[in-house]
Amino acid sequence: MSENVTKKLMLFFPKCECEKPIIYYLVKNYDLIVNVFRAKVTPEEEGYLVLDVTGSEEDITKGVEYVKTFNVTVNFSGKGVTRDAETCTHCGYCVPYCPTEALRIADSDTREVSYNESECIECMACIRVCPFGACSSTF
Ligand code: SF4
Ligand code: SF4
Repeated sequence: MSENVTKKLMLFFPKCECEKPIIYYLVKNYDLIVNVFRAKVTPEEEGYLVLDVTGSEEDITKGVEYVKTFNVTVNFSGKGVTRDAETCTHCGYCVPYCPTEALRIADSDTREVSYNESECIECMACIRVCPFGACSSTF
């Protein structure tokens, strides 16, 4: 039997998926122990859940794949800050404002701006300065 691990997840729900019993199925079908410690889910608007899931790596992976079939965005760091890759123009304006280099130009040839959520400390600087509104916070 494989060893259990605990992972922190943040699930962003689009409007239409908020009412689905996703957590129930994570527990029932994927044998995961779920501990929800922050949530905002209403039928009228988008919502999010911040939770710990405990189970085997395999079951967690399967559970996350299941969640994604509902058009739910999964953020593994449990952070509230997201960068919308569709909206981001890679203008680079946010890069010097990011104190941890979570936002950085990783490739000097393409000049694409990458976002590493695990390095984000939620200082909100990018949200303030991004001219295109690509960065946002759930909280
Ligand atoms: S300032 Fe906004 S649009 Fe420009 S690179 Fe940063 S996140 Fe992308
Ligand atoms: S919130 Fe702060 S640390 Fe996180 S990506 Fe934006 S500027 Fe960087």
